[in-house]
Amino acid sequence: MSFRKLAIVGIWAALAAALWAQESSPAKTVKAVRFGKLWDGKGRLWTNAIVIVEGERVREVTTDAKAIPAGAQILDLSKYIGLPGLIDVHTHMTMYTDETPGAPMLKQITSNPPAVEVFLARKGAMRTLQAGVTTVRDLGADQYMDIAMRDLINRGEMIGPRMFVSGYGLYITNTPYRQGLNLPAGGVADGVPEVLRVVRQQIAAGADVIKLYASTGTDDDTTGFETYNYEEIKAAVDAAHQFGKKIAIHSYGPDGARDAVRAGTDSLEHATDMDDATIAEMAKRGTFYVPTIDHNRYYLDNAAKIGYAPGFESKTRAFIERNLETARKAHKAGVKFAMGSDAIYSMFGENTRELAWFVKAGMTPEEALKTATTNAAELLGKNSELGAVGAGYFADLVAVEGDPLADVQVTINQVKWVMKGGAVVVDKAAGPHAR
Ligand SMILES: [Zn+2]
Repeated sequence: MSFRKLAIVGIWAALAAALWAQESSPAKTVKAVRFGKLWDGKGRLWTNAIVIVEGERVREVTTDAKAIPAGAQILDLSKYIGLPGLIDVHTHMTMYTDETPGAPMLKQITSNPPAVEVFLARKGAMRTLQAGVTTVRDLGADQYMDIAMRDLINRGEMIGPRMFVSGYGLYITNTPYRQGLNLPAGGVADGVPEVLRVVRQQIAAGADVIKLYASTGTDDDTTGFETYNYEEIKAAVDAAHQFGKKIAIHSYGPDGARDAVRAGTDSLEHATDMDDATIAEMAKRGTFYVPTIDHNRYYLDNAAKIGYAPGFESKTRAFIERNLETARKAHKAGVKFAMGSDAIYSMFGENTRELAWFVKAGMTPEEALKTATTNAAELLGKNSELGAVGAGYFADLVAVEGDPLADVQVTINQVKWVMKGGAVVVDKAAGPHAR
Protein backbone atom coordinates (compact mmCIF):
# COMPACT_ATOMS: atom_id res chain seq x y z
CA MET A 1 0.00 0.00 0.00
CA SER A 2 1.39 3.40 -1.00
CA PHE A 3 1.82 6.19 1.50
CA ARG A 4 -0.86 8.16 -0.35
CA LYS A 5 -3.32 5.29 0.00
CA LEU A 6 -2.30 4.90 3.59
CA ALA A 7 -2.97 8.61 4.18
CA ILE A 8 -6.41 8.30 2.63
CA VAL A 9 -7.13 5.27 4.76
CA GLY A 10 -5.92 7.32 7.70
CA ILE A 11 -8.30 10.16 6.85
CA TRP A 12 -11.17 7.71 6.50
CA ALA A 13 -10.29 6.10 9.80
CA ALA A 14 -10.23 9.53 11.48
CA LEU A 15 -13.54 10.43 9.87
CA ALA A 16 -15.10 7.16 10.88
CA ALA A 17 -13.82 7.64 14.40
CA ALA A 18 -15.27 11.16 14.48
CA LEU A 19 -18.59 9.91 13.19
CA TRP A 20 -18.56 7.11 15.69
CA ALA A 21 -17.77 9.54 18.48
CA GLN A 22 -20.59 11.78 17.29
CA GLU A 23 -22.98 8.86 17.25
CA SER A 24 -21.90 7.48 20.57
CA SER A 25 -21.36 10.78 22.37
CA PRO A 26 -25.10 11.41 22.96
CA ALA A 27 -24.84 8.38 25.22
CA LYS A 28 -22.69 10.60 27.44
CA THR A 29 -24.88 13.68 27.19
CA VAL A 30 -27.73 14.35 29.56
CA LYS A 31 -31.32 14.12 28.38
CA ALA A 32 -34.48 15.18 30.13
CA VAL A 33 -37.58 13.29 29.03
CA ARG A 34 -40.91 14.84 29.92
CA PHE A 35 -44.05 12.73 30.24
CA GLY A 36 -47.61 13.86 31.00
CA LYS A 37 -47.78 10.91 33.33
CA LEU A 38 -45.28 8.19 34.19
CA TRP A 39 -46.08 4.73 35.53
CA ASP A 40 -42.71 3.94 37.04
CA GLY A 41 -43.10 0.26 37.94
CA LYS A 42 -42.20 1.16 41.50
CA GLY A 43 -45.73 1.81 42.68
CA ARG A 44 -45.99 5.44 41.69
CA LEU A 45 -47.94 7.21 38.97
CA TRP A 46 -46.26 10.58 38.38
CA THR A 47 -47.89 13.63 36.86
CA ASN A 48 -45.64 15.88 34.73
CA ALA A 49 -42.66 13.60 35.24
CA ILE A 50 -39.18 14.48 34.10
CA VAL A 51 -36.81 11.55 33.64
CA ILE A 52 -33.20 12.71 33.65
CA VAL A 53 -31.04 10.35 31.65
CA GLU A 54 -27.27 10.30 31.76
CA GLY A 55 -25.56 7.98 29.32
CA GLU A 56 -27.48 4.71 29.30
CA ARG A 57 -28.96 5.07 32.79
CA VAL A 58 -31.59 7.09 34.59
CA ARG A 59 -30.04 9.62 36.93
CA GLU A 60 -33.22 10.86 38.53
CA VAL A 61 -37.01 11.05 38.20
CA THR A 62 -38.47 14.37 39.26
CA THR A 63 -41.25 16.88 38.64
CA ASP A 64 -38.96 19.82 39.32
CA ALA A 65 -37.90 21.53 36.09
CA LYS A 66 -35.12 23.25 38.02
CA ALA A 67 -33.45 19.85 38.39
CA ILE A 68 -32.79 19.69 34.63
CA PRO A 69 -29.05 20.28 34.19
CA ALA A 70 -27.99 23.16 31.95
CA GLY A 71 -27.37 21.99 28.41
CA ALA A 72 -29.51 18.89 28.74
CA GLN A 73 -31.39 17.80 25.63
CA ILE A 74 -35.10 18.11 26.33
CA LEU A 75 -37.40 15.46 24.88
CA ASP A 76 -40.97 16.62 25.29
CA LEU A 77 -43.37 13.68 25.34
CA SER A 78 -45.78 15.38 27.72
CA LYS A 79 -48.82 14.38 25.69
CA TYR A 80 -48.01 10.74 26.36
CA ILE A 81 -47.83 8.37 29.32
CA GLY A 82 -44.42 6.93 30.06
CA LEU A 83 -43.77 3.30 30.96
CA PRO A 84 -40.62 1.32 31.69
CA GLY A 85 -39.23 -0.50 28.64
CA LEU A 86 -41.19 -3.72 28.31
CA ILE A 87 -39.69 -7.19 28.70
CA ASP A 88 -40.68 -10.28 26.72
CA VAL A 89 -39.38 -13.35 28.56
CA HIS A 90 -39.94 -15.87 25.77
CA THR A 91 -38.73 -15.19 22.24
CA HIS A 92 -36.86 -16.95 19.47
CA MET A 93 -35.25 -13.92 17.85
CA THR A 94 -33.08 -15.93 15.45
CA MET A 95 -36.06 -17.85 14.09
CA TYR A 96 -37.28 -14.75 12.29
CA THR A 97 -38.55 -15.01 8.73
CA ASP A 98 -39.85 -12.61 6.14
CA GLU A 99 -43.21 -13.33 4.66
CA THR A 100 -41.69 -13.97 1.23
CA PRO A 101 -44.59 -14.95 -1.02
CA GLY A 102 -44.49 -18.55 -2.16
CA ALA A 103 -41.98 -19.68 0.42
CA PRO A 104 -43.47 -21.24 3.56
CA MET A 105 -41.83 -19.77 6.64
CA LEU A 106 -41.14 -23.26 8.03
CA LYS A 107 -38.94 -23.96 5.01
CA GLN A 108 -37.21 -20.58 5.00
CA ILE A 109 -36.03 -21.07 8.54
CA THR A 110 -34.41 -24.41 7.93
CA SER A 111 -32.78 -23.32 4.67
CA ASN A 112 -31.10 -20.12 5.87
CA PRO A 113 -27.44 -20.36 6.87
CA PRO A 114 -26.85 -18.99 10.39
CA ALA A 115 -25.14 -15.79 9.22
CA VAL A 116 -28.09 -15.04 6.94
CA GLU A 117 -30.57 -15.78 9.70
CA VAL A 118 -28.83 -13.49 12.21
CA PHE A 119 -28.69 -10.72 9.60
CA LEU A 120 -32.39 -11.07 8.75
CA ALA A 121 -33.29 -11.22 12.45
CA ARG A 122 -32.47 -7.51 12.79
CA LYS A 123 -35.88 -6.83 11.20
CA GLY A 124 -37.67 -8.83 13.89
CA ALA A 125 -35.50 -7.05 16.46
CA MET A 126 -36.64 -3.67 15.14
CA ARG A 127 -40.29 -4.73 15.17
CA THR A 128 -39.85 -5.94 18.74
CA LEU A 129 -38.53 -2.50 19.74
CA GLN A 130 -41.47 -0.87 17.96
CA ALA A 131 -43.79 -2.84 20.26
CA GLY A 132 -42.05 -1.18 23.22
CA VAL A 133 -40.05 -4.28 24.12
CA THR A 134 -36.51 -3.26 25.03
CA THR A 135 -35.41 -6.53 26.65
CA VAL A 136 -36.02 -10.16 25.75
CA ARG A 137 -35.20 -13.53 27.21
CA ASP A 138 -34.53 -15.71 24.17
CA LEU A 139 -35.30 -19.37 24.79
CA GLY A 140 -33.72 -21.61 22.22
CA ALA A 141 -31.60 -21.05 19.13
CA ASP A 142 -29.45 -23.07 16.76
CA GLN A 143 -25.68 -22.78 16.41
CA TYR A 144 -25.42 -20.08 19.09
CA MET A 145 -26.95 -17.51 16.76
CA ASP A 146 -28.62 -16.00 19.83
CA ILE A 147 -25.27 -15.45 21.51
CA ALA A 148 -23.92 -13.78 18.36
CA MET A 149 -26.99 -11.56 18.14
CA ARG A 150 -26.88 -10.61 21.83
CA ASP A 151 -23.23 -9.63 21.51
CA LEU A 152 -23.76 -7.66 18.27
CA ILE A 153 -26.57 -5.70 19.94
CA ASN A 154 -24.50 -5.06 23.07
CA ARG A 155 -21.62 -3.80 20.90
CA GLY A 156 -23.93 -1.43 19.06
CA GLU A 157 -23.44 -3.23 15.74
CA MET A 158 -27.10 -4.20 15.54
CA ILE A 159 -30.15 -2.34 16.81
CA GLY A 160 -32.39 -4.54 18.90
CA PRO A 161 -33.64 -5.29 22.37
CA ARG A 162 -31.21 -6.26 25.10
CA MET A 163 -31.04 -10.06 24.97
CA PHE A 164 -30.61 -12.73 27.62
CA VAL A 165 -30.09 -15.99 25.78
CA SER A 166 -30.05 -19.74 26.34
CA GLY A 167 -28.14 -21.27 23.43
CA TYR A 168 -29.53 -24.72 22.70
CA GLY A 169 -32.54 -25.85 24.66
CA LEU A 170 -32.16 -29.35 26.10
CA TYR A 171 -34.35 -32.06 24.58
CA ILE A 172 -34.48 -35.84 24.42
CA THR A 173 -33.44 -37.94 21.44
CA ASN A 174 -36.27 -37.72 18.92
CA THR A 175 -34.74 -38.92 15.67
CA PRO A 176 -34.34 -42.48 14.37
CA TYR A 177 -31.02 -44.28 14.27
CA ARG A 178 -28.92 -43.64 11.18
CA GLN A 179 -26.03 -45.80 10.09
CA GLY A 180 -22.60 -44.22 10.34
CA LEU A 181 -21.40 -41.59 12.75
CA ASN A 182 -24.26 -40.61 15.04
CA LEU A 183 -23.23 -37.60 17.06
CA PRO A 184 -26.11 -36.13 19.03
CA ALA A 185 -27.40 -32.81 17.72
CA GLY A 186 -26.83 -29.69 19.83
CA GLY A 187 -29.14 -29.73 22.84
CA VAL A 188 -29.88 -33.47 22.79
CA ALA A 189 -29.38 -35.01 26.23
CA ASP A 190 -30.65 -38.32 27.56
CA GLY A 191 -30.07 -39.32 31.18
CA VAL A 192 -28.55 -37.36 34.02
CA PRO A 193 -24.88 -37.36 32.86
CA GLU A 194 -25.83 -36.05 29.41
CA VAL A 195 -28.14 -33.45 30.92
CA LEU A 196 -25.25 -32.21 33.05
CA ARG A 197 -22.93 -32.11 30.04
CA VAL A 198 -25.37 -30.17 27.85
CA VAL A 199 -26.24 -27.64 30.58
CA ARG A 200 -22.52 -27.05 31.13
CA GLN A 201 -21.98 -26.75 27.36
CA GLN A 202 -24.49 -23.90 27.12
CA ILE A 203 -22.88 -22.11 30.05
CA ALA A 204 -19.46 -22.57 28.42
CA ALA A 205 -20.84 -21.08 25.20
CA GLY A 206 -21.96 -17.98 27.08
CA ALA A 207 -25.64 -18.65 27.77
CA ASP A 208 -27.33 -16.42 30.34
CA VAL A 209 -30.14 -18.84 31.11
CA ILE A 210 -30.88 -22.56 30.57
CA LYS A 211 -33.87 -23.86 28.60
CA LEU A 212 -35.18 -27.41 28.81
CA TYR A 213 -38.04 -29.01 26.87
CA ALA A 214 -39.81 -31.31 29.33
CA SER A 215 -42.67 -32.24 27.03
CA THR A 216 -43.70 -32.59 23.42
CA GLY A 217 -45.66 -29.80 21.80
CA THR A 218 -44.47 -27.06 19.44
CA ASP A 219 -45.69 -25.38 16.25
CA ASP A 220 -48.87 -27.15 15.09
CA ASP A 221 -48.31 -30.02 17.55
CA THR A 222 -50.25 -29.38 20.77
CA THR A 223 -49.51 -32.69 22.50
CA GLY A 224 -47.96 -32.41 25.93
CA PHE A 225 -46.37 -35.75 26.74
CA GLU A 226 -43.66 -35.51 29.37
CA THR A 227 -40.30 -36.28 27.76
CA TYR A 228 -37.82 -36.14 30.63
CA ASN A 229 -38.17 -37.87 33.96
CA TYR A 230 -37.99 -36.07 37.29
CA GLU A 231 -34.33 -37.00 37.95
CA GLU A 232 -33.23 -35.55 34.62
CA ILE A 233 -35.20 -32.34 35.15
CA LYS A 234 -33.86 -31.97 38.69
CA ALA A 235 -30.30 -32.49 37.42
CA ALA A 236 -30.75 -29.68 34.87
CA VAL A 237 -32.22 -27.30 37.45
CA ASP A 238 -29.43 -27.97 39.95
CA ALA A 239 -26.68 -27.74 37.33
CA ALA A 240 -28.00 -24.36 36.15
CA HIS A 241 -28.36 -23.03 39.69
CA GLN A 242 -24.89 -24.24 40.62
CA PHE A 243 -23.52 -21.73 38.08
CA GLY A 244 -25.87 -18.95 39.13
CA LYS A 245 -28.07 -19.39 36.04
CA LYS A 246 -31.83 -19.57 35.99
CA ILE A 247 -33.76 -22.19 34.08
CA ALA A 248 -36.91 -22.05 31.97
CA ILE A 249 -38.77 -25.29 31.43
CA HIS A 250 -41.14 -25.92 28.54
CA SER A 251 -44.13 -28.15 29.16
CA TYR A 252 -47.33 -28.13 27.13
CA GLY A 253 -48.96 -30.66 29.45
CA PRO A 254 -49.43 -31.11 33.21
CA ASP A 255 -46.92 -33.90 33.91
CA GLY A 256 -43.81 -32.07 32.77
CA ALA A 257 -45.16 -28.99 34.56
CA ARG A 258 -45.57 -30.85 37.84
CA ASP A 259 -42.03 -32.26 37.74
CA ALA A 260 -40.50 -28.96 36.60
CA VAL A 261 -42.10 -27.08 39.49
CA ARG A 262 -41.21 -29.78 42.00
CA ALA A 263 -37.60 -29.73 40.72
CA GLY A 264 -37.41 -25.98 41.35
CA THR A 265 -37.58 -24.42 37.89
CA ASP A 266 -37.49 -20.61 37.86
CA SER A 267 -40.14 -20.37 35.17
CA LEU A 268 -42.60 -22.70 33.56
CA GLU A 269 -43.43 -22.09 29.90
CA HIS A 270 -46.75 -22.79 28.14
CA ALA A 271 -48.27 -25.35 30.54
CA THR A 272 -51.96 -26.24 30.29
CA ASP A 273 -54.20 -28.46 32.41
CA MET A 274 -52.07 -28.06 35.52
CA ASP A 275 -53.58 -29.72 38.58
CA ASP A 276 -54.42 -27.66 41.65
CA ALA A 277 -51.49 -29.10 43.61
CA THR A 278 -48.99 -27.93 40.97
CA ILE A 279 -50.58 -24.48 40.85
CA ALA A 280 -50.50 -24.24 44.65
CA GLU A 281 -46.86 -25.32 44.64
CA MET A 282 -46.01 -22.59 42.10
CA ALA A 283 -47.68 -19.96 44.26
CA LYS A 284 -45.81 -21.21 47.32
CA ARG A 285 -42.40 -21.36 45.64
CA GLY A 286 -42.80 -18.18 43.60
CA THR A 287 -42.33 -20.05 40.31
CA PHE A 288 -43.06 -17.79 37.34
CA TYR A 289 -45.72 -18.93 34.89
CA VAL A 290 -45.20 -17.86 31.27
CA PRO A 291 -48.30 -19.23 29.55
CA THR A 292 -47.56 -17.91 26.01
CA ILE A 293 -51.25 -18.10 25.08
CA ASP A 294 -51.05 -15.76 22.11
CA HIS A 295 -48.51 -17.69 20.02
CA ASN A 296 -51.11 -20.33 19.17
CA ARG A 297 -53.43 -17.52 18.02
CA TYR A 298 -50.58 -16.39 15.74
CA TYR A 299 -50.19 -19.94 14.36
CA LEU A 300 -53.90 -20.09 13.57
CA ASP A 301 -53.85 -16.69 11.86
CA ASN A 302 -50.78 -17.53 9.77
CA ALA A 303 -51.04 -21.28 9.19
CA ALA A 304 -50.82 -21.14 5.41
CA LYS A 305 -47.92 -18.70 5.35
CA ILE A 306 -46.01 -20.78 7.89
CA GLY A 307 -46.71 -23.97 5.96
CA TYR A 308 -48.63 -26.08 8.49
CA ALA A 309 -50.70 -28.93 7.07
CA PRO A 310 -54.42 -28.35 7.62
CA GLY A 311 -56.14 -30.27 10.39
CA PHE A 312 -54.46 -28.79 13.44
CA GLU A 313 -56.86 -25.87 13.84
CA SER A 314 -59.50 -27.42 16.11
CA LYS A 315 -56.87 -28.94 18.41
CA THR A 316 -55.04 -25.62 18.60
CA ARG A 317 -58.26 -23.74 19.35
CA ALA A 318 -59.03 -26.19 22.15
CA PHE A 319 -55.47 -25.82 23.45
CA ILE A 320 -55.82 -22.01 23.61
CA GLU A 321 -58.99 -22.40 25.69
CA ARG A 322 -57.28 -24.79 28.11
CA ASN A 323 -54.23 -22.54 28.24
CA LEU A 324 -56.41 -19.55 29.14
CA GLU A 325 -58.36 -21.56 31.70
CA THR A 326 -55.11 -22.71 33.36
CA ALA A 327 -53.91 -19.10 33.42
CA ARG A 328 -57.17 -18.01 35.03
CA LYS A 329 -56.79 -20.64 37.78
CA ALA A 330 -53.14 -19.80 38.34
CA HIS A 331 -53.83 -16.07 38.60
CA LYS A 332 -56.61 -16.72 41.10
CA ALA A 333 -54.24 -18.88 43.15
CA GLY A 334 -51.69 -16.07 43.33
CA VAL A 335 -49.09 -17.47 40.92
CA LYS A 336 -46.61 -14.90 39.58
CA PHE A 337 -46.78 -14.34 35.82
CA ALA A 338 -44.26 -13.01 33.34
CA MET A 339 -45.14 -12.01 29.79
CA GLY A 340 -43.69 -14.26 27.12
CA SER A 341 -44.83 -14.16 23.50
CA ASP A 342 -42.93 -17.18 22.14
CA ALA A 343 -42.46 -14.94 19.09
CA ILE A 344 -41.05 -16.78 16.10
CA TYR A 345 -41.29 -16.40 12.27
CA SER A 346 -43.03 -13.08 11.58
CA MET A 347 -44.70 -12.69 15.00
CA PHE A 348 -42.20 -10.04 16.11
CA GLY A 349 -43.99 -6.79 16.80
CA GLU A 350 -46.98 -8.68 18.20
CA ASN A 351 -45.02 -9.49 21.39
CA THR A 352 -47.33 -7.70 23.79
CA ARG A 353 -50.62 -9.11 22.53
CA GLU A 354 -50.18 -11.68 25.30
CA LEU A 355 -51.20 -8.96 27.76
CA ALA A 356 -54.78 -8.98 26.44
CA TRP A 357 -55.03 -12.69 27.27
CA PHE A 358 -53.83 -11.91 30.80
CA VAL A 359 -56.66 -9.42 31.20
CA LYS A 360 -59.06 -12.08 29.89
CA ALA A 361 -57.60 -14.40 32.55
CA GLY A 362 -58.65 -11.92 35.24
CA MET A 363 -55.83 -9.40 35.60
CA THR A 364 -56.29 -5.66 35.69
CA PRO A 365 -54.37 -3.78 32.97
CA GLU A 366 -51.89 -2.73 35.67
CA GLU A 367 -51.33 -6.31 36.82
CA ALA A 368 -50.78 -7.27 33.18
CA LEU A 369 -48.27 -4.43 32.82
CA LYS A 370 -46.31 -5.78 35.77
CA THR A 371 -45.87 -9.14 34.04
CA ALA A 372 -43.92 -7.34 31.30
CA THR A 373 -41.95 -5.06 33.62
CA THR A 374 -41.27 -5.70 37.31
CA ASN A 375 -42.15 -9.40 37.30
CA ALA A 376 -40.16 -10.07 34.14
CA ALA A 377 -37.17 -8.20 35.56
CA GLU A 378 -37.37 -10.28 38.73
CA LEU A 379 -37.40 -13.46 36.64
CA LEU A 380 -34.26 -12.23 34.87
CA GLY A 381 -32.66 -11.46 38.23
CA LYS A 382 -32.30 -7.84 37.05
CA ASN A 383 -34.93 -6.05 39.12
CA SER A 384 -32.52 -3.38 40.27
CA GLU A 385 -31.80 -2.20 36.71
CA LEU A 386 -34.67 -3.29 34.45
CA GLY A 387 -38.47 -3.21 34.53
CA ALA A 388 -38.87 0.14 36.30
CA VAL A 389 -37.98 3.80 35.92
CA GLY A 390 -35.79 5.06 38.72
CA ALA A 391 -32.27 6.22 39.58
CA GLY A 392 -29.66 3.69 38.45
CA TYR A 393 -31.98 1.75 36.14
CA PHE A 394 -31.30 1.42 32.43
CA ALA A 395 -32.94 4.32 30.60
CA ASP A 396 -35.46 2.07 28.85
CA LEU A 397 -38.63 4.13 28.34
CA VAL A 398 -41.81 3.77 26.33
CA ALA A 399 -44.33 6.51 25.51
CA VAL A 400 -47.92 5.42 24.84
CA GLU A 401 -50.92 7.44 23.74
CA GLY A 402 -53.95 6.84 25.99
CA ASP A 403 -54.27 5.36 29.44
CA PRO A 404 -52.55 1.96 29.74
CA LEU A 405 -53.99 1.49 33.24
CA ALA A 406 -57.55 1.76 31.91
CA ASP A 407 -57.12 -0.18 28.67
CA VAL A 408 -54.54 -2.88 27.99
CA GLN A 409 -54.87 -2.20 24.24
CA VAL A 410 -53.05 1.10 24.77
CA THR A 411 -49.86 -0.74 25.72
CA ILE A 412 -50.38 -3.19 22.85
CA ASN A 413 -51.25 -0.78 20.03
CA GLN A 414 -50.34 2.78 21.00
CA VAL A 415 -46.58 2.78 21.43
CA LYS A 416 -45.33 6.07 19.99
CA TRP A 417 -41.75 6.37 21.11
CA VAL A 418 -39.13 4.08 22.63
CA MET A 419 -35.79 4.74 24.30
CA LYS A 420 -33.38 1.91 25.02
CA GLY A 421 -30.31 2.48 27.16
CA GLY A 422 -30.57 6.25 26.71
CA ALA A 423 -30.88 6.15 22.90
CA VAL A 424 -34.15 6.84 21.06
CA VAL A 425 -34.79 3.74 18.93
CA VAL A 426 -38.41 4.31 17.86
CA ASP A 427 -40.07 7.65 17.19
CA LYS A 428 -43.61 7.72 15.85
CA ALA A 429 -44.56 10.68 18.03
CA ALA A 430 -46.36 13.39 16.11
CA GLY A 431 -44.68 16.76 15.67
CA PRO A 432 -41.29 18.01 16.79
CA HIS A 433 -40.72 17.22 20.42
CA ALA A 434 -36.96 17.55 20.74
CA ARG A 435 -35.51 20.97 21.18
ZN1 LIG B 1 -40.52 -21.16 22.63
